[in-house]
Amino acid sequence: MSMDQKLSKAADLLRGSSRAYAFTGAGVSTESGIPDFRSPGTGLWSNPELLALATGDVLQRQPARFYSVFLPQWLAYQRAEPNPAHKAIAELEALGRLSGVVTQNIDGLHRKAGSQVVWEVHGHLRHLVCGSCGAPAPFEAAEDAMRKDALPPRCDCGGVVRPDVVLFGEAMAPDFERALAALRRGCDLMLVVGSSLTVYPAASLVRFADAFIIVNCDPTPYDGQAAVILHGSAGRILPELLDAVKEAK
Ligand SMILES: [Zn+2]
Repeated sequence: MSMDQKLSKAADLLRGSSRAYAFTGAGVSTESGIPDFRSPGTGLWSNPELLALATGDVLQRQPARFYSVFLPQWLAYQRAEPNPAHKAIAELEALGRLSGVVTQNIDGLHRKAGSQVVWEVHGHLRHLVCGSCGAPAPFEAAEDAMRKDALPPRCDCGGVVRPDVVLFGEAMAPDFERALAALRRGCDLMLVVGSSLTVYPAASLVRFADAFIIVNCDPTPYDGQAAVILHGSAGRILPELLDAVKEAK
């Protein structure tokens, strides 16, 4: 099948579905300058020593170290802007072709792009939260603490203020249960974008889908079940898919 034929088939599937969702991973954000941590040779997660620090345990025992390693990265996330893939996903929702998006990413770029129904199953970085009392805190609290060499930031209650994201060894964010509940009610099509579908339990959510369109640079375990596979960059393919959906008669 040519690329045009694949795009046309994917567009037909999106137009014919009644409960289609997107499921996105790091690959949807690489063109926003956020590295895919699980790709070999790039980013933080390819460094096992740093990977071992991204745990709730390190946050508890060595909070200053935890912050000094990860805060610069989160600040870069906060400055990132949505790319054409995020925008196309938001527009597909606005057109009524997607019912929502489940994302493994903590960068918040789907909301920034205008998506309305978004489940961030690994949390987000829009604000920090007290690990003891749960009160939200602004990111500036962490930046101030870093500037004053007074990491970690602390809440008025004395608790350590932490990012509202899922660290290794921690339970999933509340959005995981919300996404699970929605998908259980029915998902006749899953548009997978930029996810290797190998990170669990997030990837377990796609098991509710009746059919798949997969947009990814690399193979996934679900390729055999996919109605259409579009290999390539999300920022190039998603706008083309959006155009195909709009053009389809
Ligand atoms: Zn507190």
